[in-house]
Amino acid sequence: MKIAIVGSINADIVINVREFAAPNETVISEQDYVLSDGGKGANQAAAVAAAGAEASFIARIGDDELGNRAIANLVQAGVNCEFVSKTPHAATGLAAILVNRHGDNIISVAAGANAHLTAADISAAESSIAQADAIIVQLEVPLQAVEAAIRVARAHGVKVVLNPAPAPEAALTFLGDVDVLIPNESEARYLAALHGAEDASLENAARALLSAGARNVVVTLGADGCLLATAEGLRHIPPYPVEAVDTTGAGDVFCAFLTAALIRGAPLAAAVDEASAAAALSVTRPQARKHLPTAAEVMEFKT
Ligand code: ATP
Repeated sequence: MKIAIVGSINADIVINVREFAAPNETVISEQDYVLSDGGKGANQAAAVAAAGAEASFIARIGDDELGNRAIANLVQAGVNCEFVSKTPHAATGLAAILVNRHGDNIISVAAGANAHLTAADISAAESSIAQADAIIVQLEVPLQAVEAAIRVARAHGVKVVLNPAPAPEAALTFLGDVDVLIPNESEARYLAALHGAEDASLENAARALLSAGARNVVVTLGADGCLLATAEGLRHIPPYPVEAVDTTGAGDVFCAFLTAALIRGAPLAAAVDEASAAAALSVTRPQARKHLPTAAEVMEFKT
């Protein structure tokens, strides 16, 4: 059971402040900053390993300390990083995250080396994709790399799971090659509009994404669960009720566990249930990347 994940890897620097600074103002935080691991690709790769599948990650870091640290942590989480390349003239991706006392955040991301992932990197990692049962891709790396990964996966009969985050600027040409599309609500509406949907309802957005070619669509709805849209119709899947303490990265855990369940042979509805349970468990814990649920914990949580 193997999943190749193609995507972003970042270091996250989080500073908690009482209030955000206005433009040209400075605020001092009394707390230490927190340096943590992030990037949707890396989060999903770590969650795939936690789900018990073999995870092979294809990405780019800078030739710097933050990149080395991020890779060391991924390797420790059980992710194969053979196809993570170092980029000599770019820094590792960095997200600067400010959180105020109300829990609101302001995030700026320097894509750095993530912006240098190319179709040639995908070709170099073709063996890793060809041996996988599925690939997971998101949109925090250049579209040409995403397209190349999907093309290679298709050529080798490998399942394609696309998490279209962040929402793209133009319609996607490769939705017809996507087995499971997993947008959150705003991405679903935005992407559906790009593909010509006129009605703003979520159900119609999901139908439009099916019409645009995606074989199956799972729209994640945070604490409201998710909407499963397939050729058989639409179904709302309620969430596992939990007391959430930190919802960061819930979508990444969801994508990873759904894909792992699918390649184990679960029908899509059962895979969605597994993903919902894993994501619900993850939001009950602070700093999801540090405390990812395992397959065994998810099974116990469900019973
Ligand atoms: P992120 O970008 O932070 O990874 P997202 O916007 O992609 O998040 P969400 O839709 O917020 O993803 O959440 C993904 C899934 O996690 C939901 O479909 C749901 O199954 C689960 N989930 C999220 N929040 C909660 C919650 N408060 N209670 C139970 N389940 C939750």
